[in-house]
Amino acid sequence: MNDVLPQETAVWQYFEKTVKQVLDAYGYGEIRMPIVEQTQLFKRSIGEVTDIVEKEMYTFEDRNGESLTLRPEGTASCVRAAEEHGMLFNQTQRLWYQGPMFRYEKPQKGRYRQFHQIGVEAFGMAGADLDAEVIALSARLWKSLGLIDHVTLELNSLGSQEARAAYRQLLIDYLSAHLDQLDEDSKRRLHSNPLRVLDSKDPSTQEVLKNAPMLQDHLDDESKQHFAELTAMLEAQGIRYVINPRLVRGLDYYNRTVFEWTTNALGAQGTVCAGGRYDGLVAQLGGKATPGAGFAMGVERLILLLETLELVPVSERETLDVYVAAEHKGLQPQVLAMSEQLRDALPEIRIRSHFAGLKNIGSKARMAGSKLTLLIKSRDDELTATLWQGDTPQELAINQVVDAVATALKG
Ligand code: ATP
Ligand code: MG
Repeated sequence: MNDVLPQETAVWQYFEKTVKQVLDAYGYGEIRMPIVEQTQLFKRSIGEVTDIVEKEMYTFEDRNGESLTLRPEGTASCVRAAEEHGMLFNQTQRLWYQGPMFRYEKPQKGRYRQFHQIGVEAFGMAGADLDAEVIALSARLWKSLGLIDHVTLELNSLGSQEARAAYRQLLIDYLSAHLDQLDEDSKRRLHSNPLRVLDSKDPSTQEVLKNAPMLQDHLDDESKQHFAELTAMLEAQGIRYVINPRLVRGLDYYNRTVFEWTTNALGAQGTVCAGGRYDGLVAQLGGKATPGAGFAMGVERLILLLETLELVPVSERETLDVYVAAEHKGLQPQVLAMSEQLRDALPEIRIRSHFAGLKNIGSKARMAGSKLTLLIKSRDDELTATLWQGDTPQELAINQVVDAVATALKG
């Protein structure tokens, strides 16, 4: 679990601001859910035999002996909340959320125990046009962030529940015939969650999988049609994708479309955004059958990617507009007065007043991430000022300061 320090939060805020603009452009509304839920909610949605539920949840009893869990993801909570507030029946909803998620994993680069997701969930729309919209939204975000050439869209279809059940049996039969070549996790999952075996990174298991029956060859006709419509719409919008027949996702509730945006720039933790369709989930959690689709992105990984590729604009790292200092201690009251005067005149301005020695004032201002440095001086009992923009000084009478600062910030 990490602390995020002010220099980094500037990057987080830039990221969040950009995401918010894109979500607004698609008419998504923000929903805020609690970070704890009843444990049962996650067991019933994510699935009992998944990594998350088997070994990653932070679960505890409250004072009533009720089992609660720090949310490991947002979709289940979002469905719970939307259902509880009557937002699903006979309606369409486009929702987004952001915040911390908790998973007891082995911490490493891009994988933490408290991490952050921004997620999108849309309800009441069963067509492939919604899948295409959700993917287009994410693609637009990568464009806004300058990431589009650094990420790849991987797509697959999991078909209907029924098609998957039939395929599941075929896969079990095939894998059972090669039991001795499977890794321990895969053996354990063979009967409880065989599709997850497709995801195994074990070389011996991967060898066996080369000849395994493919889900793609066993899809139901409606799902095939849905997938064909989706890929046609993506192509019409110029969104490139690769079909990854082994993409299955680690959560049980998906059907039909699943997708991931991946990158090669982060090492092993290459998935920055993942999602798909989950038409059965609302009913599974006790609501009236309502189709849904969405995705969640990993904020830490995306920020790491922006930093690695040096894509954060310099201006976004500047957290101050003006750094105001006095030439000598006696002018400290004038520094305070000038700062207040600037705040009155320019309500959006971000000012920090300097209350310590003057040594290295220029580099202190730069360290503070300020665009401008203002030095208050006195000459022959007259107050004057020097305004630095970068290395360029400008000498000013005190009554010119407000205008000069306003002009410099506009430019
Ligand atoms: P992975 O395969 O990397 O474990 P996942 O399938 O468990 O990912 P999801 O549950 O789909 O991940 O979560 C969506 C996104 O959230 C991931 O693509 C990733 O960017 C991010 N994410 C998931 N777990 C973590 C974590 N422990 N730390 C940081 N980011 C994470
Ligand atoms: Mg995981």
